[in-house]
Amino acid sequence: MTRTVIVGAGIVGAALADQLAARRGGDVVLIDRSRPGLGTSRTSFGWLNANRKQPRAYFDLSVEAMRDWSRLAHEFGEPSWYQPVGNLAWARSPQAREELATRVDRLQAWGYGAETVTASRAQGLEPNVTIPSDAEIAFFPEEGYVCGCQAAQALVQRATSRGARLITGVEVSELVVSRSRVTGVRLAAEERIAAETVVCCAGWRSPELLAPLGIDLPLVTASTSGSRAGGLTVTIEGVTPRPDRVIHAPELDLRPKGESRLLLEANDIDAQVDLTSGEDHLDERAQELLARAGMLVPGALSATIGEASLCVRPLPLDGYPLVGPVSDHHGLYLAVTHSGITLAPTLARHAALELLGTESPTLRQYRPDRASRGTPQQRPDGGSRLNQ
Ligand SMILES: Cc1cc2nc3c(=O)[nH]c(=O)nc-3n(C[C@H](O)[C@H](O)[C@H](O)COP(=O)(O)OP(=O)(O)OC[C@H]3O[C@@H](n4cnc5c(N)ncnc54)[C@H](O)[C@@H]3O)c2cc1C
Repeated sequence: MTRTVIVGAGIVGAALADQLAARRGGDVVLIDRSRPGLGTSRTSFGWLNANRKQPRAYFDLSVEAMRDWSRLAHEFGEPSWYQPVGNLAWARSPQAREELATRVDRLQAWGYGAETVTASRAQGLEPNVTIPSDAEIAFFPEEGYVCGCQAAQALVQRATSRGARLITGVEVSELVVSRSRVTGVRLAAEERIAAETVVCCAGWRSPELLAPLGIDLPLVTASTSGSRAGGLTVTIEGVTPRPDRVIHAPELDLRPKGESRLLLEANDIDAQVDLTSGEDHLDERAQELLARAGMLVPGALSATIGEASLCVRPLPLDGYPLVGPVSDHHGLYLAVTHSGITLAPTLARHAALELLGTESPTLRQYRPDRASRGTPQQRPDGGSRLNQ
């Protein structure tokens, strides 16, 4: 019997496999219906931050994660998938200006890298973006981005080099239950793998895996119109010169994605897409993002769309991670989270400890059954903007 089977090799499952393999080597099996990193982690915006995270404990978790990424990047020889390039954000409406200034004050009081900057300083930091002279502007030097797909693949490769077994292109069709205990997984090809513990890291698809066990995972569904779970990220090509940092402008978020390419996303466009959106609608929305990029980045005026991806956030109803054992289902452990690119290494480190028998006080507040225990949390963004 394998001690741990992990379902899903996105950034969360990959980080967990890496942590467990470092301690347990060959006693970990990682299964993905596709290949590592090709789910939400591939199309994610990937902003590495603790910027809007509240309350303090969740902020601290995110800061810990930023440090974990820095440590991991060092271990991997400063790979190109980790880019701590800083984030430049600005606001123009009176309400947004006040929110940004208040946020900078709070982050400074919490010891986080955050400063208000003048337009000329901002323009000096990022000469390839048109920054309005009358905006409230902030710079967050410790933030950056992680390319989720490449990072997941690197973590999986290290895990397998330490003895973890990787099975790809095979779906886990069912969790096997015996006497109210999860005892393994059944694969689509009817093969069964027995396990002491099955860890569900299946991202937004987790509810379909857990529903047959009577587990109603509190995730936002992406198949209803206006759902907050859907998102559209667009890669544009031929941007020269291109910005080097993460940019949060009122109408567009962007970050570099390799040589002369940018990744685009916008909150209002995300709100207009979901799993029921047709191709024409997505194309139109992608063109809108390209047009906004052209207005913000002179080097993007003749850029073209390389890829437009409809992606789904594994978004818990209250916004916070769902990590830990599931009451009444021994042998089952969950690790499903939004902001997973940022949080993966830290959630994985704490989860690995728990799977090895030591309860993590940090994870106590993120238990999957917290809502039924009557401890719903405040949304991490205070309820307004979706927290990345
Ligand atoms: C538009 C958008 C923007 C985002 N921006 C940010 C951001 O800026 N910063 C940030 O930190 N986070 C961001 N996120 C969130 C982040 O991308 C996710 O939290 C993270 O990628 C989740 O990783 P995961 O490993 O849980 O899921 P995934 O990457 O989806 O991995 C799950 C894996 O499970 C596999 N799988 C599923 N079901 C089965 C099954 N039955 N059998 C076998 N395999 C299975 C899938 O193939 C997949 O590879 C964003 C998300 C979206 C959609």
